[in-house]
Amino acid sequence: MTQVTSSPASAGLEALEARLRQDLEFLELPGKPWVPARAVDGVPVRDVVVIGAGMCGLAATAKLILSGITNIVTYDAAPAGFEGPWVTFARMETLRSPKSLSGPALGLAPLTFRAWFTAQYGTEAWADLDKIPKAQWMDYLVWYRYVLNLPVRNNVRLTGVSQAGDLIAIDLEGAETGRVLTRRLVLATGRSGLGGFAAPDFLKAVDRAYWAHSADEIDFDALKGKKIAVIGAGASSMDNAATALEAGAGAVDLLIRRKEMPRINKMTGIGSQGVVHGMAHLPDAWKWKFGDYNAATQVPPPRSSTLRVSRHANARFLLDCGILSVCEDKGGLLIETTQGPLHYDFLIAATGFSNDFEGRPEFEVLARHIRSWKDGRYQPDMGLPRESMIEAPDLGPAFEFQELVPGSCPMLAHIHCFNDAAMLTHGKVSGDIPAVSAGAERLVRGIAASLFAEDVETHFANLVAYETPELQGDEWTDSTPLLHKETAL
Ligand SMILES: Cc1cc2nc3c(=O)[nH]c(=O)nc-3n(C[C@H](O)[C@H](O)[C@H](O)COP(=O)(O)OP(=O)(O)OC[C@H]3O[C@@H](n4cnc5c(N)ncnc54)[C@H](O)[C@@H]3O)c2cc1C
Repeated sequence: MTQVTSSPASAGLEALEARLRQDLEFLELPGKPWVPARAVDGVPVRDVVVIGAGMCGLAATAKLILSGITNIVTYDAAPAGFEGPWVTFARMETLRSPKSLSGPALGLAPLTFRAWFTAQYGTEAWADLDKIPKAQWMDYLVWYRYVLNLPVRNNVRLTGVSQAGDLIAIDLEGAETGRVLTRRLVLATGRSGLGGFAAPDFLKAVDRAYWAHSADEIDFDALKGKKIAVIGAGASSMDNAATALEAGAGAVDLLIRRKEMPRINKMTGIGSQGVVHGMAHLPDAWKWKFGDYNAATQVPPPRSSTLRVSRHANARFLLDCGILSVCEDKGGLLIETTQGPLHYDFLIAATGFSNDFEGRPEFEVLARHIRSWKDGRYQPDMGLPRESMIEAPDLGPAFEFQELVPGSCPMLAHIHCFNDAAMLTHGKVSGDIPAVSAGAERLVRGIAASLFAEDVETHFANLVAYETPELQGDEWTDSTPLLHKETAL
C-alpha cells in the first residue's frame, strides 16, 4: 500500500486527494442513499454484495456508492493489496496496456493512474515512463480503494450461493463466516472467476509434479538447470518463459501450434467509444463474428515480453509445433509433437481460463441453470462453434444471468456476471483496463433501475407522504374574489 508520509510525493498525493474531494463535491457525489432498507427477522439485508475486489470489483463498488446505493459490501478471498493477478501470478514486468488508459476512473480525472502518478513523481517522470510496472498498478488500485473509502473486506471467500425467498443467501468463509442475505450479487471474480484454469485434455492424466498452469504458484527456483516447455505464444507464455529463464532454467522451448507468431493486436486498431458502447447492441451474428475473428487472429504477446525471452540464447520458439500427447517418461515428460518427440523436465501450460461453472464449487447450485450461448443464441451459420465462445453465459443488459429453463432459478436475474465471461455478450467492458468504467456504469445503471422498480410501491408511498412545502403560502394572494366583483358589475 502507498504510505502517506511527509515527503513531497505524499504532499502531491494529498493535494490530489483534496482535488478529488472537491470534484466530488461539485458533482454532488456520492448521490444520497435512496434504496429502502430491508431486514429479515431483524437481520439487515444488503442491497448489493460484490464478490471480488480486483479492478472490476472496485470500479463496480465505487460506482454503486457514487450512485447512492450504499448498503453494500465487497468481499475478496485475497489479503488486502494482493487482489487480482498483479503481484501474484502476473509474471510480466509492466502492464501490457499503454500507460494513458483512464481505466477504473469513472470519469473523474483525479482518480486516473496518470493523476496518481504525476501527483507523486511529476510530469517529467510521467513523460519518461514507458509502461506501468505491474506492482505500481497494484499500488494505484490500493490507493483507489482507500481514497474512495470502499467497503472491502479481505480474506473472505464466497463458498456458496442459494435462493432465500426473493433474496440471495451467500455463504462466507475466512475472516468473516456465515450467511449474508443480499438483494443483488455481483460476481467480479476475474478471469478464472466462473470456471478455472483451462488445461488441454492431453495434460489431464499427467502428474502435477511435472506441469503447472501459468496462473499457478510456480517455484521457479526449483526449475534451475531444468529443460522446460511452455505451451502457447501469448503474453502469459512469454512472461512465464522469461521468468523461468531469468531464474536459471537450463533451456526453455515455446511450443507454438501456429505456423507464425500473431503480430497484430487487431482490436486496438478499431478501439473507440463506438466499440465500447456499441458491441453490446449488435445482433448476435455480429458479436460472434468479432469474437471469432479475435480468437482466430489472437492477441500477440507484447514486444518487450517477447524480447525478454529471445534475449536468452537457451530459449527456442518452436512454431508449427502442435502437441499430440504428453506422458511421463524417465523422471520427466515425453511430448509427442507434430515436429517429432521432445523431452522435458517440466511443462508450463499458458492455456488461459474457462467458463466452466461446474469447475467452481461455490456456483454448484447455479451452474446447471445458467443459460449459455450454446443454448440457442449461437446458430451454426454464425461460424465454427468455438468452445470458449459457446460456453459463454448468455447475459441480460445489466450483466445478469438468464435461466436455462424459465422459473427454475429466479435468483439468476439478480446475479450479475461482471467479469471476463461477459465479453461475448457485452464487449470488452468487464475484464480489461480500457473500458472498465463504461462496464461499471452499465452494470450499476441496470442494478439501480431494477432496485427502483422492485421498490416502486415504497417510492410511490414516499411520494404521497412527502409534505415539505416549497411555497410558504405568503408568496401570492388569491385574486378570485376580485374577479367575482368585476364580473358582478
Ligand atoms: C497476467 C495478466 C496480465 C494482464 N495484463 C493486462 C494489461 O496489461 N492490460 C489490461 O487491460 N488487462 C490485463 N489483464 C486483464 C485484466 O485487466 C485483469 O485480468 C484484471 O485483473 C481483471 O480484473 P478483475 O477485477 O476482473 O479480476 P481480478 O483482478 O482477477 O480480481 C478478481 C478477484 O476476485 C476474487 N475472488 C474470486 N473468487 C472469489 C471468491 N469465491 N470469493 C472471494 N473472492 C473471490 C479474487 O481473489 C480476485 O482478487 C491481465 C490479466 C492477466 C491474468
